[in-house]
Amino acid sequence: MTQDPYADGVKSVENVAQFLSLTAEQVARLTHHNRIVEVNLPIQRDDGTIQLFTGFRAQHNNARGPYKGGIRFHPGVTQSEVKALSMWMTWKCAVADIPFGGGKGGVIVDPKSLSPKELEKLARAYSRAIAPVIGDDTDVPAPDVNTDPQIMEWMLSEYEAFIGRPAKATFTGKPIEKGGAEGRTEATGFGGVWVLEEILRSQNQSLSGQRIVIQGYGNVGSFFAQKAVSLGALVIGISDSKGGIVHEKGIDLAAAVEHKKQTGSFAGLEGSKTVGNEELLTTDCDILVPSALENVITVDNASAIKAKLIIEMANGPVTPEANSALFARGVNSVPDILANSGGVTGSYFEWLQNKQDEHWSKDEYLQKLEAKMKQATQVVVTFAKEKNLSLRDSAYAIAIKRVLEAMA
Ligand code: NAD
Repeated sequence: MTQDPYADGVKSVENVAQFLSLTAEQVARLTHHNRIVEVNLPIQRDDGTIQLFTGFRAQHNNARGPYKGGIRFHPGVTQSEVKALSMWMTWKCAVADIPFGGGKGGVIVDPKSLSPKELEKLARAYSRAIAPVIGDDTDVPAPDVNTDPQIMEWMLSEYEAFIGRPAKATFTGKPIEKGGAEGRTEATGFGGVWVLEEILRSQNQSLSGQRIVIQGYGNVGSFFAQKAVSLGALVIGISDSKGGIVHEKGIDLAAAVEHKKQTGSFAGLEGSKTVGNEELLTTDCDILVPSALENVITVDNASAIKAKLIIEMANGPVTPEANSALFARGVNSVPDILANSGGVTGSYFEWLQNKQDEHWSKDEYLQKLEAKMKQATQVVVTFAKEKNLSLRDSAYAIAIKRVLEAMA
């Protein structure tokens, strides 16, 4: 995140304001939040002392449905950050065409500094503090950085105690036995490949033989790789925080994972070249998939990128300035609000199953996800072609138009 992530978020709206002929009043309404809650959370530490933590829940816009967005536990959480991320969720849900608005929450804490008991206390305190403003038809939180299904389970149980009745659809990302969805783990990575497949189809191409480089081989990156390879692509580069490897003929992914298990990193895998993360990004390939961090492709390295297409699986990996520079020389980046929307679409499916008291099999869940991702992509690709826009501007324009229509 930059110094003022919210100001960057406002810029994304202003970028398409002229194209959409938005008035200053419309831009103001689109970028102002409906509600931002700040909560103070006194927690008794294991040594008996009391420590005060600060948390936020930002509710950006609910014109299309209940606010939806994760809760992060991180020392760098700020009000500006949750405001930016909740606005981002509004556009993401709109472009994916799911009936949710944008929300986001966070607590300023380094969770590694807490014992499991203290972590549970903090999760429960945060849930109790935001309970008056959330609910299955109001605001539906989910995991984000440093929060997981166990934390969602604690938060849900605290919320249910607060309102005095079961309400499992209020939190998504729960453990499967508590109403979580089968397939959610794969949803973001697989979803990104279905977006990519549809974009290539619109250019009369397929995934077969495409040479792919993936920065960040974590949850999203690894499932992206698995699905892409199953559809005929070649993953020629991967990395983690310690660095990466490149193999022109395609990396043996199972061997790479095993090598990392044994040695702690991908470096030194037999037959592969060891590279740093910067070199990995500028490796000659067809498709580059940043799936680790924000702001990794900037004006400083954009001119060295050799990929023809970038899929933003991380949130905000390509800066708006770099996106313009890349588009000017024919490199499109598929924006995060479309590329990684398989995650929130999968969360919507969990909410839907909970509301209808159903349980879908993993196959059913993934089939529905594939259809939804491809549909959303077709709309973005068609609009981009019609109006000669970058995929990013097309996705933002569609999202903003949909939100404006719902507000009207
Ligand atoms: P993760 O923690 O499972 O994986 C992140 C990977 O990135 C790890 O392999 C880590 O080693 C690597 N990494 C960290 N720093 C790096 C660096 N400097 N250079 C290269 N690699 C580095 O996280 P994830 O769930 O896979 O999420 C990845 C990104 O996707 C994040 O930006 C997240 O916000 C975004 N995202 C995730 C989901 C989801 O459903 N998990 C949904 C939407 C967006």
